[in-house]
Amino acid sequence: MLNCREMSELGSEIIEGHLGFRTRLAVLMHLRMCSRCTLYIKQLKMTSQVLQQVPFTDETVDSQAILKRLHEPDQ
Ligand SMILES: [Zn+2]
Repeated sequence: MLNCREMSELGSEIIEGHLGFRTRLAVLMHLRMCSRCTLYIKQLKMTSQVLQQVPFTDETVDSQAILKRLHEPDQ
């Protein structure tokens, strides 16, 4: 069984879908009983989606726009 610390360590692999079947199952089981990690993964997912949408250039990293997007409701 995974604990919350292991969940946070797995975070990026979870949202990128790089987990094996057993780990994914353990993650899903943890998420079912832990609202904190559910929220954590959800925010992580949102962040990665936002980062993919924002066109970064070398000079302009508009963190304000990212933060604004993060606070928009789920679509
Ligand atoms: Zn947890």
